[in-house]
Amino acid sequence: MTTTLTDSLERPLRDLRISLTDRCNFRCSYCMPAETFGKGYRFLPRKELLSFEEITRVVGLLQELGLQKVRLTGGEPLLRHDCSTLVGMLARPGLDLAMTSNGLLLPRHAEQLKRQGLQRVTVSLDSLRDEVFQRINDVGVPVSHVLEGIRAAEEAGLGPVKINMVVKRGLNEEDLLPLAEHCRETGRTLRFIEFMDVGNSNGWNRESVVPSAEILERLQKRWPLEAVGAAYRGEVARRWKYRDGAGEIGLISSVSQAFCGDCTRLRLSAEGVLYTCLFATRGSNLKTPLRAGADDGKLRELLQGLWSRRSDRYSERRGSAGQGQRIEMSYIGG
Ligand code: SAM
Ligand code: SF4
Ligand code: SF4
Repeated sequence: MTTTLTDSLERPLRDLRISLTDRCNFRCSYCMPAETFGKGYRFLPRKELLSFEEITRVVGLLQELGLQKVRLTGGEPLLRHDCSTLVGMLARPGLDLAMTSNGLLLPRHAEQLKRQGLQRVTVSLDSLRDEVFQRINDVGVPVSHVLEGIRAAEEAGLGPVKINMVVKRGLNEEDLLPLAEHCRETGRTLRFIEFMDVGNSNGWNRESVVPSAEILERLQKRWPLEAVGAAYRGEVARRWKYRDGAGEIGLISSVSQAFCGDCTRLRLSAEGVLYTCLFATRGSNLKTPLRAGADDGKLRELLQGLWSRRSDRYSERRGSAGQGQRIEMSYIGG
């Protein structure tokens, strides 16, 4: 039976992002800068990661509490060994199952992911220029490898692929229009994400944020756009469509136009800690009760208690919110 669980601000629990690993084969400067995530960095040991059975059990319980969508993320989710097996275990009626990936390993995994029940993938790509993209990923991966991943996903039936572009002042503003043009031509939806102050190591400052309004203005000068209403409550991207019918774009404005009022999202880290906000400084350890043999009733109670107490709205209070040590993006999964 499904019940609708709401938090202290009347927001239902609808989405879960699951980080499958805190490791990544990229070192994006805005997420895992190499200076911090270098050789000496201690990633989670394997035995600390939730098993596929544990993840599947949590998802089943959350589905009873109203969960409708699951997104697999990381770090790089495709680095988690055998992750399509987990997809097969999670795929069930009534659950929308998607993944966000940097795309590099998609040629190897796309078909199997589709066969196991993955519905869609979003791929992150911040520039079509090798020089800029390699400066961002910091491991020398050329744009063509990500484009091959996107194509593989589409050929496997995981498309149309959405592309996430983080826009950072002075880094890749010039790539806005070329990426938009690429997406118009290929039928992919481009979503622009404002550079966010997640974690503690990416050197964020407000001057580096290119506000969505400015992005929209730059696009509008080239191609007239009109707003599209949200498809569902909790949709993070504001949608706009090209007047000439060449598809749509999304703007994720978590800095300039916070959307906490509609935030229906819970996050599960790879080691089994639940976070009710991307900017949380503390989470709730679920692994200990899971491994101590808690029955479903006990776990349900824990999940219900956590969500019903939830009052997070960090982005709306940015500046006045406390400045504790925050969770890194690669750990919490975006
Ligand atoms: N590795 C996968 C990828 O890059 O798609 C999944 C994990 S990544 C943490 C999820 C999303 O967060 C990506 O689209 C990435 O661009 C975005 N992201 C990471 N750091 C960010 C930041 N500081 N501000 C805004 N978005 C960020
Ligand atoms: Fe890796 Fe994704 Fe973070 Fe880039 S954004 S470092 S690909 S986890
Ligand atoms: Fe949701 Fe927290 Fe982001 Fe607000 S700041 S939209 S509550 S994750």
